[in-house]
Amino acid sequence: MILIDGKKTSTEIQEKLARETAEFSNSVGKPPHLAAILVGNSGPSETYVAAKMETCRKVGFKSSLIRFETDIKEEELLLEIDRLNADPDLHGFIVQLPLPNHISVEKVIERIDPRKDVDGFHPLNMGKMAKNQPSFASATPWGIMRLIEAYGIETAGKHVVILGRSQIVGLPLALLLSRNSNPGNATVTICHSRTQNLTEITRQADILIAAIGIPEFVKAEMVKPGAIVIDVGINRIPDESKKSGFRLIGDVDFQQVSPLCSAITPVPGGVGPMTIAALMENTLMAARQQSGLS
Ligand code: NAD
Repeated sequence: MILIDGKKTSTEIQEKLARETAEFSNSVGKPPHLAAILVGNSGPSETYVAAKMETCRKVGFKSSLIRFETDIKEEELLLEIDRLNADPDLHGFIVQLPLPNHISVEKVIERIDPRKDVDGFHPLNMGKMAKNQPSFASATPWGIMRLIEAYGIETAGKHVVILGRSQIVGLPLALLLSRNSNPGNATVTICHSRTQNLTEITRQADILIAAIGIPEFVKAEMVKPGAIVIDVGINRIPDESKKSGFRLIGDVDFQQVSPLCSAITPVPGGVGPMTIAALMENTLMAARQQSGLS
């Protein structure tokens, strides 16, 4: 069984990015600049944004964190997005999800200038991605594609089963894997909360990808022996032995499933670090485009 090391692959991508960023900054006279909007102070969002800002520092980007209280009005947030869209010093920005219920995620995403949408959630970028045109691909799915590529995992003609159809993971990942490209050319089945006979379907998967947000949902009987398993889930469960009071586990029961598969991603250290690497790649791409370098 191969343990697919997302941390190592992400570090390799970041090292390459750091070299390319130095070249970019030398020729343009300023570094790529990524901003993150964080609404509220939920623990997981704080952690993700802090990791993104820290990675900016490592690869040589400028970064800005813009914080708002949970009770920010939707209109105020939209005006801030307008401000960032118009800021010539800023190449890309993200709005960390989830947002409070009184704010429409769709309105927020659609307000972002697609040229600065480095999370790749804007409908224009999603559409271009579906049509295999150059675009910012959604960061988590793109990170998974980069991981598949780095490990030389063959996807052409394989049956990929994805658990979850979310706009930020399951759906864009299905589009990427079924495109006529490499990696890609897979036969993709998307399963969701209304799917019947789930185990029957997951057992057919050459590559099984879990993105549902239910801790250890995928059990041994759901996996075909020899399959490749990619666990996107990040779930916090209480653990008094940890200083933080919790530990992270995936959507796959690693203990049960790992002896069965030919390769598997761990949680943490699998898909998570790749999401950040993909975000950094998208930001450098945005900076190049806006500086007339590509
Ligand atoms: P989501 O809640 O938006 O979507 C969950 C999906 O799972 C839905 O499409 C739903 O239909 C499906 N689902 C729910 N119960 C199901 C069931 N019993 N059987 C089959 N399908 C079922 O979640 P999301 O935002 O896509 O995130 C999924 C997981 O991935 C979460 O654990 C999240 O924390 C994690 N995540 C990780 C990263 C990363 O960088 N590693 C990034 C984004 C999300």
